Amino acid sequence: MKEKGIKVIKEKCVGCGACIKACPFGAVTLESKIAVIDLDKCTLCGACKEACPFGAIVIYKPQGVKTDVSGYKNVWVFIEREEQKIASVSFELLGKARVLAGDLKSKVVAVFLGSDIKKDTQELIYKGADEVILVEKKELGHFIAENYANTIVRLIQKYKPEIVLAGATTTGRSLVSRIAVKIRTGLTADCTGLDIDKEKKLLIQTRPAFGGNIMAQIITPNYRPQMATVRHKVMKELPPDKNREGKVIEEVLDGKIIDDRIEFVKFIKEESYKVNLADADIIVSGGRGLGEPKNFSLIRELAAALNAAVGASRAAVDAGWIPYSHQVGQTGRTVAPKIYIACGISGQIQHLVGMQSSKIIVAINKDPDAPIFKIANYGIVGDLFKVIPLLVEKIKSK
Ligand code: FAD
Ligand code: SF4
Ligand code: SF4
Repeated sequence: MKEKGIKVIKEKCVGCGACIKACPFGAVTLESKIAVIDLDKCTLCGACKEACPFGAIVIYKPQGVKTDVSGYKNVWVFIEREEQKIASVSFELLGKARVLAGDLKSKVVAVFLGSDIKKDTQELIYKGADEVILVEKKELGHFIAENYANTIVRLIQKYKPEIVLAGATTTGRSLVSRIAVKIRTGLTADCTGLDIDKEKKLLIQTRPAFGGNIMAQIITPNYRPQMATVRHKVMKELPPDKNREGKVIEEVLDGKIIDDRIEFVKFIKEESYKVNLADADIIVSGGRGLGEPKNFSLIRELAAALNAAVGASRAAVDAGWIPYSHQVGQTGRTVAPKIYIACGISGQIQHLVGMQSSKIIVAINKDPDAPIFKIANYGIVGDLFKVIPLLVEKIKSK
């Protein structure tokens, strides 16, 4: 494999400077009327090569060795545990994996790592797994990305899965990015849709791109496994089927998988997890229409009357009216409650991608043309300062 790099062919360079203007990183200068590239600044983006009218710049990047994709089969789901319980995102992924495996005529395999977890394998089978690969080890009792990645890389090398899915959680993200690098395959983060191209048998990974303005479809034709992370609540969990049967494969991996430079000290739950947006049945969210931070009290009042959680748009979070942990949307939480009440939120795409799977959407907005009304099941065109107190009064009187 050739080392990556960039080179100016001196004989072709006329010193026109077009590459200097094109470089977004300030990496090009002229020395004695010849372009010189600072390799510490250059990201190999290729803009200068495109801009050079004389073909004086060449870029060479390492070419990975394509995988022989033919021997890879089955859809794997990494089973995440949260405080020693299986995270609900893993059950949601098992549900989706069933659909994908159905299209591929293959099996759903749950990859379950930990210590003293065998008792939970049956639940994975009830919720969609055909097989569970179980690795029990004292050192895997707590999630340490390096140890988990080493273990799963070994399993991938042995079993050759076609697809590997994980939650787009802190755990999932830190794990699968390491695996993708070690295995040298592609990874699509934060997918909102997964399908199979039935003709080519490829995983179509859909995710928002360019600030949510387009939905990109990404495929991994040349490398295996095809890996994707999916956010919580995007896919649907299957109801448990106690008649399902499956196989548990207990793997004892020899050799070094534990990185002894790392020691688990203790788990401290991040403050943001205390805002239980993901599991709430009802969410009342406030946006810039609230005008100032103290008016979030209106949202809290309505939420309290409905026993709901409090959400927010990014505009409200960016303004410092409410902590980030409440943000719903592309760069916040994805939620799918039974009822989502958006108050003073215009409904920009980046907000919608985080809440559009809600069963019932209620919008309160004084602008009848606000985009939120396009997806709302119930819309109240009016001033939230008048509407919310009336709603609270009505709910309390019930
Ligand atoms: P505005 O768009 O300003 O809307 C305020 C609404 O309140 C208006 O519709 C107005 O009519 C209404 N209003 C005003 N006064 C009243 C009143 N008295 N009564 C009733 N209604 C009233 N946004 C998110 O929410 N979540 C994200 O995760 C997110 N991620 C992003 C990621 C990227 C890369 C980018 C570029 C943007 C992202 N955004 C996100 C920002 C998003 O584009 C919008 O700017 C944001 O959602 C707007 O918030 P808002 O609806 O509260 O404010
Ligand atoms: Fe600049 Fe990109 Fe050219 Fe490197 S490849 S010199 S970063 S324009
Ligand atoms: Fe040289 Fe091409 Fe850059 Fe012009 S654009 S200075 S010819 S490398």
